[in-house]
Amino acid sequence: MVKRIGIDVGGTNVKIALVDGEGKIIYSNSVPTYAQMGYEYTVNNIKQAIKDLMKETNTEAKDIQGIGFDFPGQVDCKTGVVKNAPNIPGWVNVPIAQMIEEEFHIPTRIDNDVRCAALGELKFGAGRGCENFVCITVGTGIGSGIVINGKVVRGAANAAGELGHIKLQMEDGPLCGCGDSGCLEAFASGPSIVAMAQEYLKGGKSAKFRELAGDGEITPYIVAKAAEAGDPVAKRIFEKMGYYIGMGLTSVINLLNPERIIIGGGVAECGELLLDPIRRTINERAMKVQRDAVEIIPAELGNSAGVIGASMLVEG
Ligand code: ADP
Repeated sequence: MVKRIGIDVGGTNVKIALVDGEGKIIYSNSVPTYAQMGYEYTVNNIKQAIKDLMKETNTEAKDIQGIGFDFPGQVDCKTGVVKNAPNIPGWVNVPIAQMIEEEFHIPTRIDNDVRCAALGELKFGAGRGCENFVCITVGTGIGSGIVINGKVVRGAANAAGELGHIKLQMEDGPLCGCGDSGCLEAFASGPSIVAMAQEYLKGGKSAKFRELAGDGEITPYIVAKAAEAGDPVAKRIFEKMGYYIGMGLTSVINLLNPERIIIGGGVAECGELLLDPIRRTINERAMKVQRDAVEIIPAELGNSAGVIGASMLVEG
């Protein structure tokens, strides 16, 4: 039986899973990242988690075909070095693949998180049987993984897929975390939902999401719940989100002519609330030939896309 390890490194936790050749998770566990302790500390915890996984599943290194890592940041897939991961302080130029291979003698590869999610969806999720698609995630930011002719596109410097930085406004647009302005991500992301909600409240008006948040913070999840309960302001916020994302995707669809756009990430958990205005915008704005060929569908692998996709890096 084919067995691989997928490891999804996040700012808070590292998820680790033993995955079979059909994309089924045989065993999973997670350990805290504790990035503030330095990357060596996290790497030691990961090594221990791999040893625990092997012990608890009675698996030896020779039975494991590969180990794959995904990181939320810039990676060099060829050398297996994490260049920079903004949410995991201290992970700058870390040769993680070499460190793991030296310890376990198992082939190890790395990639960024959204491309791993796209690879997972390609092999075992909403991208099965599809040669050309774009998988996007909407959460704190907006990212994408592009699959062309059945292969994940990495680009000249492993940086392909930055859908969140498509420019929606040429001049005087909102500032973006990338240092530029007018990017899709500066208009539509989890934090933009919260900013739109707070802007409305500044006018002194009441809204369902304020009531649902109680004394706590307003989150995209709460704004989605308010919209589902019929709150007109919350509904308008998701309409705008879908409009902005739909406009960004219109350029992608015109450019690449994909069969599917697969939408995942925490904010996309609200389903049709976001998908419906995205589809309407694409129907109104994309070129006819491309728009007739594309379907806009939710991701299937959810939270597990990272570990499942990462586990496939050695094969892919
Ligand atoms: P990150 O980009 O930090 O990895 P996620 O992709 O996990 O984040 O997305 C987290 C965000 O998703 C949070 O802001 C949360 O409020 C939001 N979220 C979770 N569930 C829903 C939902 N059902 N509807 C709308 N937003 C949601």
